[in-house]
Amino acid sequence: NLTHGVILYLEDINVSFDGFKALNNLNLYINQGELRCIIGPNGAGKSTMMDVITGKTRPDSGSAWFGQSINLLDHDEPEIAEAGIGRKFQKPTVFETLTVQENLELAMAGPKGVWATFRARLQGEDRDYLDQILLLIGLVAERQRFAGVLSHGQKQWLEIGMLLMQRPQLLLVDEPVAGMTHQEMERTAELLTSLAGQHSVVVVEHDMDFVRSIANKVTVLHQGSVLAEGTMAQVQADPKVIEVYLGE
Ligand code: ADP
Ligand code: MG
Repeated sequence: NLTHGVILYLEDINVSFDGFKALNNLNLYINQGELRCIIGPNGAGKSTMMDVITGKTRPDSGSAWFGQSINLLDHDEPEIAEAGIGRKFQKPTVFETLTVQENLELAMAGPKGVWATFRARLQGEDRDYLDQILLLIGLVAERQRFAGVLSHGQKQWLEIGMLLMQRPQLLLVDEPVAGMTHQEMERTAELLTSLAGQHSVVVVEHDMDFVRSIANKVTVLHQGSVLAEGTMAQVQADPKVIEVYLGE
């Protein structure tokens, strides 16, 4: 079982693809309510790590725990999502021909939801929650618009809102600001920062200015292991990190 306050715990995780070690004795602890950024060069193992956490890839060895007692290696992808881990991929995947509000309603109903009845479900508390999420993602004025007409940034926020409808404890977010304008990036930094505390958030991101603007703690992955961990200032001053980034 986990130490109190730790929401995610990966220990000595190994993943090989045809003899190539994508993850090499990877260790990672995420605290409850923490906002963590994961950085590292291409091929460092960031996506593979997310795949292990969400049950998409099964490691060759190691252990992975979530919450107080959930052994992630005993569960498949839908079960892990159900347990409270939400993942956002890089590209927004909203339903373009539904309105913003309908996208959120459908997300709350989840994979088991029945299309014909999901509207009826969203009353009382659920409806209040939806309104809160709309406010949080800055799309109150767009609620009745089709998702297809939203800007790229708004689609990304809607998708984060859709994840939140499932009330996840841990959110995994892959490159949220790729393709965003500077203003959209600032708004995204505010959004992710405001989620921390209530949720634990792990963000994989390439944009260093963005990472600097949001993260308390940064983990640098390299060749499938943790190379350095600390504040952005600490990892940037680390000779091992400088060497890896200069050599890229
Ligand atoms: P990152 O997300 O940090 O760029 P990845 O986790 O995607 O890195 O990949 C880590 C390494 O594992 C890369 O060298 C990649 O080519 C390799 N890899 C990832 N997935 C597969 C796969 N399904 N089959 C073979 N090799 C893979
Ligand atoms: Mg990747």
